[in-house]
Amino acid sequence: MKVLVAAPLHEKAIEVLKNAGFEVVYEEYPDEERLIELVKDVDAIIVRSKPKVTRRVIESAPKLKVIGRAGVGLDNIDLEAAKERGIKVVNSPGASSRSVAELVFGLLFAVARKIAFADRKMREGVWAKKQAMGIELEGKTIGVVGFGRIGYQVAKIANAFGMNVLLYDPYPNEERAKEVGGKFVDLETLLKESDVVTLHVPLVDATYHLINEERLKLMKPTAILINAARGAVVDTNALVKALQEGWIAGAGLDVFEEEPLPADHPLTEFDNVVLTPHIGASTVEAQMRAGVQVAEQIVEILKG
Ligand code: NAD
Repeated sequence: MKVLVAAPLHEKAIEVLKNAGFEVVYEEYPDEERLIELVKDVDAIIVRSKPKVTRRVIESAPKLKVIGRAGVGLDNIDLEAAKERGIKVVNSPGASSRSVAELVFGLLFAVARKIAFADRKMREGVWAKKQAMGIELEGKTIGVVGFGRIGYQVAKIANAFGMNVLLYDPYPNEERAKEVGGKFVDLETLLKESDVVTLHVPLVDATYHLINEERLKLMKPTAILINAARGAVVDTNALVKALQEGWIAGAGLDVFEEEPLPADHPLTEFDNVVLTPHIGASTVEAQMRAGVQVAEQIVEILKG
């Protein structure tokens, strides 16, 4: 059996494949033409958010039985074409949950304690002690929008910090909520009562621009918004307006409607906004887990 690894993969994952007796071919991010050549005799392909596994690629791979995505989103894979051929598609949705949750707190502290701002000032030779007055998290209320894998980890950490936890999810899991000391409320209540609002919903029709002008206006002027879900869950223009007009106190953003975020984007102008380039899952541990989980599923399918 032959597996094409078409994106960087943790060595432990490669080991899983080799220990199963598979031949592993590695080529980083081949373009479509090259991928078409490479897939001719492979039983499985592993990708990340790149390269694109198009219909043409799938149709050029007569032996292909499984496509593995080390990570979550499957938007780079033509699922319809895979389904038509009976090719299984596997991923590792939970592998990065803890990493994303920890980044949420990284962003939150950076905004709440003005860390990124103070660091920028230090580098300019400015001792910005007075301008860097912050707030504590203990005793504050965090509103977790979307209480799934990541939302749960965020709520667990928030609980450990002594925050009050409000939750909003159309499919409330009361038992898990109890575990993290969380209380389910409707979205309006969550937005009105939270000092921190953090988004952990999938991007679907119902969540596109979920956080719009009207909902930003419900938030406290002292509140911080964190988005490490998907850029389009927030109406960016409305957020820029909210920051300009002081409807909220700041934001920490890992995801954007347009990625990479253009260098001259209005969001880069605010001192009270902290930006990271979609690095929620970028940890050694998350990458290892994602790779190993996908490799193990591929072994099971090809050997099963
Ligand atoms: P999940 O499926 O485990 O949880 C999502 C939760 O959202 C579910 O409980 C679901 O019931 C709930 N939900 C669905 N529609 C909703 C709505 N309209 N309002 C409120 N809740 C709703 O997903 P997850 O693994 O926790 O991932 C959450 C988000 O994080 C996704 O958008 C994912 O793309 C994103 N993500 C980002 C990064 C990053 O690098 N920043 C990494 C991984 C995942």
